[in-house]
Amino acid sequence: MDQNQGERKPRVVLIPCPFQGHINPMLQLGAALHSKGYSITIVHTQYNSPNPSRHPEFDFQSIQDGLAEDVIDSGNLLEIITGLNIKCKHPFQECLEQIVLRRGQVTCVIYDDLMYFAEAAANNLELPSIILRTINAATFASRLAIMHLVEEGRFPFQDSALGEPVPDLPLLRFKDLPVSKYNAQDKFLKLIAEACHTRTSSAVVWNTIDCLEQPLLAQLQKQCPVPIFPIGPMHKYAPPSSSSSLLKEDTNCISWLNKQPEKSVLYVSFGSVVSIQETEIAEMARGLANSEQKFLWVIRPGSILGSEWIELLPKGFLETVGQRGCIVKWAPQKQVLAHAAVGGFLTHCGWNSTLESIAEGVPMICRPNFGDQLVNARYISHVWGIGLQLESKLDGEEVARAVRRIMVDEKGEEIRVRAKSFKKKIELGMGRGGSSYNALNKLLEFMSF
Ligand code: UDP
Repeated sequence: MDQNQGERKPRVVLIPCPFQGHINPMLQLGAALHSKGYSITIVHTQYNSPNPSRHPEFDFQSIQDGLAEDVIDSGNLLEIITGLNIKCKHPFQECLEQIVLRRGQVTCVIYDDLMYFAEAAANNLELPSIILRTINAATFASRLAIMHLVEEGRFPFQDSALGEPVPDLPLLRFKDLPVSKYNAQDKFLKLIAEACHTRTSSAVVWNTIDCLEQPLLAQLQKQCPVPIFPIGPMHKYAPPSSSSSLLKEDTNCISWLNKQPEKSVLYVSFGSVVSIQETEIAEMARGLANSEQKFLWVIRPGSILGSEWIELLPKGFLETVGQRGCIVKWAPQKQVLAHAAVGGFLTHCGWNSTLESIAEGVPMICRPNFGDQLVNARYISHVWGIGLQLESKLDGEEVARAVRRIMVDEKGEEIRVRAKSFKKKIELGMGRGGSSYNALNKLLEFMSF
């Protein structure tokens, strides 16, 4: 039992959504609250369960998620998340009752906005609940814009509108909206409606920061009945070497980076869920080879469609890798992006990767695939001006040009300078008196309920 100088520490129960891009910020929030004196219980599904041995400071409780094998094997995120919200409700209620019984009073329950089943259990036990949004404000606003288009009978939208600006969000085009790739519109719309709703929760914690999204956050706060606390980037609350990776990180790439000159390496990674066609991989490989730049490429096993790992890379490319590249299955990404040898990031633009890159001043080449990645890519390239987007059918020559521009060409200098200035802004925002620092303190005050 947790005792602090004879007193029981207040306990917070966290419910992450079981995907890497959601587990990371929730556990980082846990680290922030733990450092402020809270005991942390992580309630997680059996599916994609985090590794408790990496976080001895937290208490982990597993709940039955009832996901069928075929749903898991399909990899269909919409089906999996919808299924979890149906199946986890009662197991979570029972688990929460046990936590209260064994561990004493719980201050509040904080749940990922996609795990909205958690709120009912908190209500039943008369516990306050808080929502964690792991997306940025722009993606949230685009979900609201989609729901607005539905009300107006303008969704799904016509192909002819794809290049037009979205009326509610003129910084985005229709083609940047985070629509579902699963072609199951009713399910998708229900999920985003639930994720956007605050129901009876008492606050919203957001993994974003004022220097990136202040005007939009202010606008959303006006529409939101409860306080919003933008305390990101949350990876800054956990030590750089700490990790909640579901896959084993290959640290050899850090030894390899240690041997490379400053800002000479392009880091290439498409996150934990994106899969890529063989043709697209071939053009990327051609682009990396022709760019004549060094590169560190994360290729997740199974992420190249139709192959186990790197068998479908073009013949001869491994020779280029031998000369000036390194390929790993999974990297300690935060450490990679913070490494002095890294000068650019070819990314799918997941929100965590985006924040991790911005916080280190690393400019990006954006190749988004689906969902919020499309919004993030547009903001990186056209709002913050810290990257380039590869939009059309991938072409090796275009990839090579973008890589040279981001890494070395004079034409990319403005982008590099802006990326560096955002690193400074993030440091100021996270430092004493900065916006995220203040928001975290206000959250802690708010949580004294
Ligand atoms: N990540 C990592 N090693 C890798 C690739 C990714 O640790 O080789 C981490 C990365 O630091 C980020 C998360 O996995 O925190 C991916 O989240 P993101 O939102 O960027 O993308 P998603 O995987 O959700 O598409």
